[in-house]
Amino acid sequence: MRIGVIGGGQLGRMMAQAASPLNIQLSFLDPSADACAAPFGTLVQGAYDDALAINQLAASVDRVTFEFESVPAQTVAQIAEHLPVYPSSQALATARDRWLEKSLFQQLGIETAPLADIASQADVDDAVARIGLPAILKTRTLGYDGKGQKVLRESADVKNAFAELGEVPMILEGFVAFDYEVSCIGVRSASGELAFYPLVRNEHRQGMLYRSEPLTDHPLQANAEQAVGEVMDALDYVGVLAFEFFVVGDRLLANEIAPRVHNSGHWTIEGSVCSQFENHVRAVADLPLGDTQTRGPVALYNLIGAMPERSLVMAIAGAHWHDYGKAPRRGRKIGHITVTAETAEQLRQRCDQLEALLRNELPN
Ligand code: AMP
Repeated sequence: MRIGVIGGGQLGRMMAQAASPLNIQLSFLDPSADACAAPFGTLVQGAYDDALAINQLAASVDRVTFEFESVPAQTVAQIAEHLPVYPSSQALATARDRWLEKSLFQQLGIETAPLADIASQADVDDAVARIGLPAILKTRTLGYDGKGQKVLRESADVKNAFAELGEVPMILEGFVAFDYEVSCIGVRSASGELAFYPLVRNEHRQGMLYRSEPLTDHPLQANAEQAVGEVMDALDYVGVLAFEFFVVGDRLLANEIAPRVHNSGHWTIEGSVCSQFENHVRAVADLPLGDTQTRGPVALYNLIGAMPERSLVMAIAGAHWHDYGKAPRRGRKIGHITVTAETAEQLRQRCDQLEALLRNELPN
């Protein structure tokens, strides 16, 4: 079997690494000749709206998936005429639009922050009057890693907010004073089989994910799985889906979904019996899902902008080095390190050792 992937970045690269033992080959559509997934599969070089390149990809594979959600709708439609596309165009359209995804959460009774759809400065003013400050204004589409957002703390911030974010469709959300952020990664097969990884606690720096650690036996695990499962069922979803939540006391507030393998699940490569990447490939290929159990204490660190000294990191027991082969650039995710251990205390010690090495490499 061959699977086509729209996008050839590190997510596609790790999907290909997981697909290889299953003898499933991946082909990537990516505009860049040095896409970092290219050495692990076949690259079809072309823009994401290049009809010829899209046809070339579709002609060489049995089904198609994505590694990012802002794929042009026309591209998905063009492929879906000929081949199964997982997750579906409807799932993609919902997940890429903050208003549509949050409307779905509310229809399913999944709690969110107070929320308004925004199409003008007058809408911002009305919504602020109703929801209050602080609040966050976010573009409905194309926002990621904290981009396309503005926190409104006082009335001076509200005044030109619609123009400052580009006069595009937006949402306004009440600011959540959360205790911490978590994500829950779920996977659903074409036949409706579901599996979930444990809730992961996520720590961001400068709006980007810095550290993730799965939480064992978290009291909100069942609530999270219910929300993820309901969303996947409602979208007739096939593949891995990541759901980000805010934890406030004993409540989970839904933030957003990503219709793909997710950065907060990279630790599953060494930390789980079956990784998120293999499970995504299994779901897309219509194979039975793999065991999502965690093997033991584990944590993930992103490498953003610069790599630490490889030999020093690799000298730490349980440190697993992942270099995506991307050119270092400020604010760019270029690798990650997963730390595994036998006990929680050993994990803490190993993480301390690693953090001492990463201190100079933090995003700036
Ligand atoms: P998002 O792109 O929506 O995931 O937002 C990026 C980050 O901004 C989140 O991971 C949170 O740290 C923060 N954030 C987003 N929405 C809210 C909110 N309503 N209240 C407080 N913080 C938020």
